[in-house]
Amino acid sequence: MSTAYIHNYEHLAHELDKLDQLISHRAAALRQRRQSMPEDARNKLYISYEEFDWLLTDLSALPPLVERRKQIESLHDEINRRSKISVAHGIFLPMAHLERLFTLSPFELQAIIICLAPELRPKYHTLYAYLQDDMTRQKPRIDLILDLLCFSEPDRWQARTYFSDDAPLFRYGLLRYLDDQQDLQLDPRILAYILGSNRIDERLTPVCRVLEPLQDMGQVFIDSQLKTRITRLVEQYGSSGKLTLYLQGQQGAGKRDLARGICGQLGCPLLYLDASAPDAEALLQTVFRETLLLQAALYIDHADSHDERFARRLEILVMEYGGLVILAGEKAWMSKFDQLAFQSVHLPAADGSLRQAAWENALQGSFPKNDVIAYSAQLAHQFRLTPGQIKAALQSAAHSSMMSNRAITINDLHAACRNQSNQKLAEIALKITPRCHWDDIILPESTLWQLREICNHVKYRHRIFSEWGFDAKLTHGKGLSVLFFGPPGTGKTLAAEVIAAELQLDLYKVDLSGVVSKYIGETEKNLARIFDEAESSNAILFFDEADALFGKRTGIADAHDRYANIETSYLLQKMEEYEGIAILATNLRENMDESFVRRLRFIIEFPFPDAINRAEIWKAQFPSQVPLGDIDYEFLAEQFPVAGGHIKNIVLNAAFLAAQDGGRIQMEHLLDGTRQEFEKIGKLWNEGMVWAK
Ligand code: ADP
Repeated sequence: MSTAYIHNYEHLAHELDKLDQLISHRAAALRQRRQSMPEDARNKLYISYEEFDWLLTDLSALPPLVERRKQIESLHDEINRRSKISVAHGIFLPMAHLERLFTLSPFELQAIIICLAPELRPKYHTLYAYLQDDMTRQKPRIDLILDLLCFSEPDRWQARTYFSDDAPLFRYGLLRYLDDQQDLQLDPRILAYILGSNRIDERLTPVCRVLEPLQDMGQVFIDSQLKTRITRLVEQYGSSGKLTLYLQGQQGAGKRDLARGICGQLGCPLLYLDASAPDAEALLQTVFRETLLLQAALYIDHADSHDERFARRLEILVMEYGGLVILAGEKAWMSKFDQLAFQSVHLPAADGSLRQAAWENALQGSFPKNDVIAYSAQLAHQFRLTPGQIKAALQSAAHSSMMSNRAITINDLHAACRNQSNQKLAEIALKITPRCHWDDIILPESTLWQLREICNHVKYRHRIFSEWGFDAKLTHGKGLSVLFFGPPGTGKTLAAEVIAAELQLDLYKVDLSGVVSKYIGETEKNLARIFDEAESSNAILFFDEADALFGKRTGIADAHDRYANIETSYLLQKMEEYEGIAILATNLRENMDESFVRRLRFIIEFPFPDAINRAEIWKAQFPSQVPLGDIDYEFLAEQFPVAGGHIKNIVLNAAFLAAQDGGRIQMEHLLDGTRQEFEKIGKLWNEGMVWAK
């Protein structure tokens, strides 16, 4: 009665017993031949009749050899039976798996054992050298394998095909030639596999790693309908069906997590390959072999970084190796796979509720439950981060709190979210770090009220759009488009800063006249970039000199005008789609085309400040630590009808004058500073304006 092997090693030991018998058989055959060799056959000067006859005799039929072969066959059958029983009992026999994975014949399995033996027991080096009649040949060669395994000439001829390049042993790289192109060696990864280790091939570690499957699809933050549809499709094919998916989505959109979730459902690991790594293409075949050994699905990241040739190679490998292959990239997939089951899926940016779920999941455990809910809602609607960026933001916030040796706060999270937002925006727009608050801005009460209203809009839009369901009713127009108009230096940029500080958002300033004239004809592309980049942070976009684009049509349709027309409607459309705040600023409202102005949600005037406000603006310009003399703000305000921008410059001029002159800012410094500013801007300086107290 055959019994199961207790474990793999017992099976391998049994295989080596069989190998020993094969070796004995071969040695016996050699000995038989030598013994039966006529005396004078060693004489090379002539060939005797005896030697002639000897060369033509087939000794393989000699009873002792036949007897040995019978024993070998019965041992072979016994091993087969015990292997089958073991597999049926769930005992992992790597050789049995190799047989199935690479559809190997008994001969090929035996060839693998012959190459394996010297790795396990050094005695085989000596035995092989003996059989190959050369002390330097301690590794098996093809002839030795044929000698050991083939008992007849036709067997031998037929078995040669197992060593051709397209037969499994070499095609899958199970065996390889050593330097001299004759000695054979078992591939190190296959050797490790047979010995029970399923660690990833060392050659692949620079480009590959194994990702744990996600057991809970709830941890995958992508659109739930999309998730269901993809899962359904994948389940139809199963982990070994030949399905290739292309997941298109921005970095952090959840592509990898989705793939891990799919693997959780299928119950298989995921092998991750970074296709943008330099060696990735050369290692592709080894990667596919690895998926077989690991019984893993394959995830090829940055698949869009390659050309058509890469796609062709992929197609061939998927055809050959099968299995689930998930490609991922940011661009649309252009190549065609004619013979593959292929599906491209676009993962849109996570919407508010998904972001909120991702935040809740990420923040759990770091804050009390109520805070988790409140913060998640707030962060989800303030920052359009991908699930990946949300994780990264939390980690960086946690690090900054650790470095300050205190618990993590909502402010850490805000700062981390801003950092996650795309830094590329800074290349095309000027990033302004908001430093000013409501106290720093002096405006008529009605203007201030409108500015506060904008802030409230942002704060409460979550409730209005998500909780109260207005989301579904509006396709776009959820963002806030605002017009600030008023003379230069009246605080338009400052107001944007105050709003940004209040809402803890980034502020980017774009000089539209610069964009329009510099990139004539390409404005659209640049505007698109600005909005796309700003999207992730919900940054406030401040478009200065908006009349450059939204100015009234002159009626003369020159080329520039035609472009401008397209660009205006494009910018408006982008502004309406944009979920953050977009502010257009102009000095001259009259110059703005009324039909555009009507489409803006808020229109706020920044009036030229009256004397009372001017006095306040003068006061607001001095930091608290400044050494100040006796300053008559009312006098300055009355005397000089200038807007805040100039006042700011004057105060700075005065500060420099005072520093040279004793270190305390006095009225005369301010007057001299004013004179400098007036001269700079070509304003008439009237000596009568001199302070005469
Ligand atoms: P605008 O954008 O309208 O041209 P800015 O906001 O750039 O004007 O104003 C320039 C500077 O002038 C501000 O940084 C601030 O120091 C000062 N300033 C202008 N207007 C005000 C105001 N209403 N209140 C306080 N300071 C002001």
